Amino acid sequence: MFNKRIKIKDLLTQEPAGQEVTVMGWVRTFRNSQFIALNDGSTNNNLQIVAGLGKFDDELLKRINTSAALKVTGTIVPSLGKGQKMDLNAVTIEILGDSDAEKYPLQPKKHSLEFLREIAHLRFRTNTFGSIFRVRHALAFAVHKFFNDKGFVYMHTPIITASDAEGAGEMFRVTTLPFDKTPRNEDGGVNFKEDFFGRSTNLTVSGQLEGELGATAFGEIYTFGPTFRAENSNTARHLAEFWMIEPEMAFYDLEDNMNLAEEFIKYIIKYAMDNNKEDIEFLAQRLAEEEKQLPQDKRSEMGLVEKLEFVLTNSFERLTYAGAIEILKESNHNKKKKFQYPITGWGMDLQSEHERYLVEKHFKKPVILNNYPKEIKAFYMRQNEDGKTVAAMDILAPGIGEIVGGSQREERLDKLEARMKEMHIPAEELWWYLDTRRFGTVPHAGFGLGFERMVQFVTGMTNIRDVIAFPRTPKSAEF
Ligand code: ATP
Ligand code: MN
Repeated sequence: MFNKRIKIKDLLTQEPAGQEVTVMGWVRTFRNSQFIALNDGSTNNNLQIVAGLGKFDDELLKRINTSAALKVTGTIVPSLGKGQKMDLNAVTIEILGDSDAEKYPLQPKKHSLEFLREIAHLRFRTNTFGSIFRVRHALAFAVHKFFNDKGFVYMHTPIITASDAEGAGEMFRVTTLPFDKTPRNEDGGVNFKEDFFGRSTNLTVSGQLEGELGATAFGEIYTFGPTFRAENSNTARHLAEFWMIEPEMAFYDLEDNMNLAEEFIKYIIKYAMDNNKEDIEFLAQRLAEEEKQLPQDKRSEMGLVEKLEFVLTNSFERLTYAGAIEILKESNHNKKKKFQYPITGWGMDLQSEHERYLVEKHFKKPVILNNYPKEIKAFYMRQNEDGKTVAAMDILAPGIGEIVGGSQREERLDKLEARMKEMHIPAEELWWYLDTRRFGTVPHAGFGLGFERMVQFVTGMTNIRDVIAFPRTPKSAEF
């Protein structure tokens, strides 16, 4: 058996008492031909390994370069140096993998996030990305724990779908048809009967419609999977491939839905704070450093940890769309014509500058906007009594903007069909979806949380490309 190592994170919780251990990891630094800082990815804290002078071959010592992989066995003793409580006095050092110091692109110095994006295959070996991706893991685990503990069923909705009802124009096509000899119909259009599935198919933009089928049998389900949008928006909060969590619940109205979403967000933040304190504190420090470069008025009012604690202890502001329009219209910001899109009144779609004004300037906390005009929302949202609005809700977070989009779904077949007709949604294609309304329909609701936006919020990273391992964005699919 090869693997008898102890992880550095676990080792550092022990008292140094001469115990014999084996560790494995990658060299961060090697000082004075004697002190190796070894990192194994379990924590940002390196283990200091002391290679006693004269105890090891020069040939071996020369190979201890930054990022070489080592297996070290020795005894744990209290450290004589400052900054760490223990040292590993090396008895044997084995080089598992060499690293050419001349060619290794990461040096023990500060690199810009932009540069690190170009070497995304190695950036996990930095403290910043070590912390981000351990926090990402904790959040993902907490998602499953939250829903599992509540008795939700985890449902895997399809990634390839034939329904393009939702995101027409924003979807990636899936096909095995040749580009050169595309089979044609008599009218010149592509003959998808010849395609792999015998019809036109795409990558999913959301698992919601299928999720509703699960909810109307299991009661409560959630999905957690990749979704794809071919939107050509090069922003700091859009990816072409991102992960979404979509719970869907029978017997829930809009208020139940908002309650669940708020509880869920707080739960996963708290889980990460309790279990990844060190990483979050490291990221808070990093953010504070980064913000020192900004002019005073662009800096956050709260530090990262303070912000997360504030979110946990305060209820989210709940406000109707109509109320939001009132606030925005009356704001000095609008009166002084500082919005790029001026507030024209009820019915307009809110731009991210408006959402950010509400959360960052006006309320200074997360806001759940609800009951939007039906014209700017999807066909499946439940129509309110006023005939003008639907039971939709968006959750807006400071620094991020929209983090959740959800609604109570229209469970009344006649109303749903009428709305689909108005919006030119082909009912024949969605016969299976409409069946849920034919056979034991119930009030139900759900929402979608963009996982990367959540990771951004908890890690304080301003660019979404830095919270997913290998970002897919327009003109970029390296690695
Ligand atoms: P936005 O207005 O920010 O583009 P949206 O209205 O298109 O969002 P929904 O269709 O409601 O978003 O999707 C649900 C959630 O998925 C959003 O609240 C957001 O958190 C996330 N999301 C949407 N599009 C993207 C994307 N391109 N990259 C990353 N996350 C996304
Ligand atoms: Mn969008």
